Amino acid sequence: MSILADTLSRVKPSPTMAITGKAAELKAAGRDVIGLSAGEPDFDTPENIRQAAHEAIENGKTRYTAVDGIAELKQAICAKLKRDNGLDYTPQQITVGTGGKQTLYNALMATLNPGDEVVIPAPYWVSYPDMVLLAGGTPVIAEAQLENSFKLTADQLEAAITPKTKWFIFNSPSNPTGAGYSHDELKALTDVLMRHPHVWVMSDDMYEHLAYGDFEFCTPAQVEPALYDRTLTCNGVSKAYAMTGWRIGYAAGPQELIAGMRKIQSQSTSNPCSVSQWAAVEALNGPQDYLAKHNEMFVRRRDLVVAMLNEIEGIQCPTPEGAFYVYPSISGLIGKTTASGKTIETDEDFATALLEDKDVAVVFGAAFGLSPNFRVSYATSDAALKEACTRIQDFCAKLT
Ligand code: PLP
Repeated sequence: MSILADTLSRVKPSPTMAITGKAAELKAAGRDVIGLSAGEPDFDTPENIRQAAHEAIENGKTRYTAVDGIAELKQAICAKLKRDNGLDYTPQQITVGTGGKQTLYNALMATLNPGDEVVIPAPYWVSYPDMVLLAGGTPVIAEAQLENSFKLTADQLEAAITPKTKWFIFNSPSNPTGAGYSHDELKALTDVLMRHPHVWVMSDDMYEHLAYGDFEFCTPAQVEPALYDRTLTCNGVSKAYAMTGWRIGYAAGPQELIAGMRKIQSQSTSNPCSVSQWAAVEALNGPQDYLAKHNEMFVRRRDLVVAMLNEIEGIQCPTPEGAFYVYPSISGLIGKTTASGKTIETDEDFATALLEDKDVAVVFGAAFGLSPNFRVSYATSDAALKEACTRIQDFCAKLT
């Protein structure tokens, strides 16, 4: 008999991390692998933030802190939510965790009873359904379509809600599609939620600052203030400030929920890293001008990748509003055979053959719940992106 709990048989390890690991292995073996699978910016944490961390260490900020964050960071988060989102929260309504991932996980652990359903739009960030399963709930997947630029419609949300629905998880701009909901598109969804007062909304705003062109970021509690009392607004410093390794995420919501999340954290990891918390204070309170500079770079890369992928017959790649991902459809390539003789029946076959034959690592769409597609992370250099897209073009040109 296995030592492992039954729950574990229902969840899978993160496929994006597995692919990134496989690409790293090939690279270590001397292959010229271009990784387009990692979900993190390719530049360093800004200097002022690194400096704040050094100072924290020198000033002895190296001990346990309050379980869900130091007062200074909670203040900085309240100020940020007011400044950027027009939302009023008090420090008692804020919780800080070890990455956005932990705060989302805490929220699900603190609220789900067996049988509770969580509506998750697909394509989704890989961890949502598995976190729901780990917390004992039931994920209900609502599929968005390519035709709607991978955005869920009001009718699709309405159809997914049942009396057992506890949460709707909303993520804009999205991982894996980069799709960002406009004010009106989000309002159509919040109107549905207004008709179902038992449903709470967990808004994962992790890619808020990675928003391009005319697209203006918005979040549910801002678009529909009447949802404030049943919204958990989640965010973090990982993506915008190139701080993925520092592990700081946060959430704002009703005090009862925040206290429940704190309880979970107090019995698992306690406080997030003290030094990282001081770095996050600087990230939120310090200068924000590099965000626009990074975005200029990301827009250029997005446009390059979208253009090169759309040149390929059989691939359709919408231009997303934000994040650093594109999610091309490969429905025109299914059933074809590679130059090395492999048949592409699924998007996983496509990604595996691309890595083996052309040393380009992408994540297959099945991992995100919508196929046949693949996800490209364009958070890497222009030169690497050009070379990778050329290899993808070459790989596809040789399909028969
Ligand atoms: N939410 C989304 C949509 C993400 O893509 C990620 C990371 O990939 C996270 C949350 C988690 O972020 P963190 O690294 O802060 O845990």
